[in-house]
Amino acid sequence: MAAPLALVVGSYNHDYAWRVERAPQAGQTLRGDAFRTAPGGKGFNQAVACARQGVPTAFIAAIGADAAGDGARQLAADEGIDAHWQTCTDAATGSACIVVEAHGQNRIIVALGANERLDPAFLREREALFAAAGVLLVQLENGVEATCAALDLAQAHGVLRVLNPAPVHDALDGTLLARCDLVTPNESEFALMLARTGGARIDADTLAGRDDAELHRLARGLGVPSVIVTLGAHGCFVSHEDARRHADARPYYRVAAEHADVVDTTGAGDAFSGALVAALLRGRGRPLRDAVVHANRCAALSTEHRGAAEAMPRAADVERRFGSGSSA
Ligand code: ADP
Repeated sequence: MAAPLALVVGSYNHDYAWRVERAPQAGQTLRGDAFRTAPGGKGFNQAVACARQGVPTAFIAAIGADAAGDGARQLAADEGIDAHWQTCTDAATGSACIVVEAHGQNRIIVALGANERLDPAFLREREALFAAAGVLLVQLENGVEATCAALDLAQAHGVLRVLNPAPVHDALDGTLLARCDLVTPNESEFALMLARTGGARIDADTLAGRDDAELHRLARGLGVPSVIVTLGAHGCFVSHEDARRHADARPYYRVAAEHADVVDTTGAGDAFSGALVAALLRGRGRPLRDAVVHANRCAALSTEHRGAAEAMPRAADVERRFGSGSSA
């Protein structure tokens, strides 16, 4: 039997970014410079992060019948990703307009376009991919019906279901979370999830400073067996339901961030989730902590390069920095 694969169902966006002295006022036209265009979308970024760790990776997404969509096909092929594209004739490939002001403030407009049209039927027609998967990774940049269909197909085939709950929006509720084995929110997503699921109202900026027992109690309120809260420069926090610890010795613990010469933290969370899934697939049966350590290393390395998908480290980069014992 072939080795199981990592399956990512998610979004593809194309980013168009400019630097400006200051953002234009209503009715004003200003000159920008340093134009950059780059692939993005949480799903694609995470698929790249996963594939670059050397595990077979399949990706299902929707794009438009346009030049950005053609670019997406080529990029996925270049990364060795087994991509399955639903081509929409009535929606454009997802795009983001990013304006970076001189003092570093970002203003972003995202048009999810085709990503919102990802069809549950398109996923069901590819059930064989779910049957061949060891881990499924989804985010929240598609229509909720498609995300739920992916999670249900994974469950039917006994596949570990991982949700990176980003961006948090109204469709994120208890019924979606009940379909997940593991979630990977950042601090603000964790605070929003707690508020949305009727739990505590917490200031996201205070999370990293709270004690571990309290974070564990809060995480348990989400009703998901395992929760990994990424804490930026503070690393991450892991919380498990007692019955499902994934071979971890402790029900909750922190992993400190690795040192990084930070250039750009865009996509750090995507690097974390993609690399986590790669390590979970490769290290099945081993403690989840090993995979978390690996994800933390990959995410730190991703901050040392500009961009999102382009900044994802390769397995060799991780080994060079952290030694050969590093691949979880
Ligand atoms: P997001 O990009 O979703 O906001 P975080 O900011 O929590 O996510 O970052 C995700 C992960 O990236 C962290 O858990 C950590 O592993 C790594 N990371 C982020 N910022 C740094 C940093 N300054 N130094 C080292 N690692 C970092």
